[in-house]
Amino acid sequence: MTAAPLLELRDVRCDFSVERGFLRARRTLRAVDGVSLALRPGETLGIVGESGCGKSTVANLMLGLIRPSAGAVLLSGTPIDRMDRRAVAQRVQPVFQDPYASLNPRKTVRAIVGLPLSVHGAAADPGDAARRVSAMLDMVGLPRHLADSYPGELSGGQRQRVAIARALVLRPNIVVCDEPTSALDVSVQAQILNLLLDLRRELGLAMVFISHNLAVVEHVAQRVAVMYLGRVVEEATAAALFRAARHPYTQALLLSVLTPEPGRGIPDARLGAGFPDPLAPPPGCSFHPRCPLAEARCAATAPALAGRGEGEGTVACHVAGALNSAMP
Ligand code: SF4
Repeated sequence: MTAAPLLELRDVRCDFSVERGFLRARRTLRAVDGVSLALRPGETLGIVGESGCGKSTVANLMLGLIRPSAGAVLLSGTPIDRMDRRAVAQRVQPVFQDPYASLNPRKTVRAIVGLPLSVHGAAADPGDAARRVSAMLDMVGLPRHLADSYPGELSGGQRQRVAIARALVLRPNIVVCDEPTSALDVSVQAQILNLLLDLRRELGLAMVFISHNLAVVEHVAQRVAVMYLGRVVEEATAAALFRAARHPYTQALLLSVLTPEPGRGIPDARLGAGFPDPLAPPPGCSFHPRCPLAEARCAATAPALAGRGEGEGTVACHVAGALNSAMP
């Protein structure tokens, strides 16, 4: 039997009001458009897509940092916006892209990692807090003598280890990692990825791993959702997606994995026109101006998510959907 989701997005929409142009006219930016996702216990869900596809907005929705304009974000079945902010933080914690920006430069490592314990009143006494901070530093592989250092005295990899220790000190059961290795040197990225994988195993964490880099997501995720202009266009187990991507956008992303400069973003993968203006998304299938398989109907009607075939996941594409339904 499939376990109930720990964290779920049900048909979530998220709009922002933004100013545009010389006259600063207000426009609505639909950052997330009808997204449904589920994260089950012990699972790692990868979310991939180009910058501006809405994946970081999804992260902020999952963390309860922003509210959906429509739909629901549920934590073990309870709408997250009806929960106390602290109760959410005890169960869901973030690891962000830039560890330097997310750490207070005036606080020591010990104070940064210990702060959630004092904010949440989670330690029995100062001695208990000190023991838990030391245990956390050991767990993330930071030498204890760095406990009295400031973030500016640490390397990028060490700072990200501090950010991970801070995220885990309350022992949440879900960690949302938003591009956690993108700001790091290539040589350090693998160490941080392997640390996250070890911690997931040791602590039984469920993890959301957001990245523009499919190679990284393949390494860590059991299931992958591909986002384009605020929508999920394909979702499947990592094995199925990397064996046979169905959506033309996913296929283009997979081609881009073979970049000679890993970590430098998505190069031109013969997608034709550039990424569209999110304030004026193309009608129909929003991928149609860049899609090599586009047909007349693609500009008129948005495809719904449908089965990918072989009982593995979903895809939103008129052409890939039709191919799948014709499969034996
Ligand atoms: Fe391409 Fe049409 Fe499929 Fe969109 S629906 S991905 S434009 S073939």
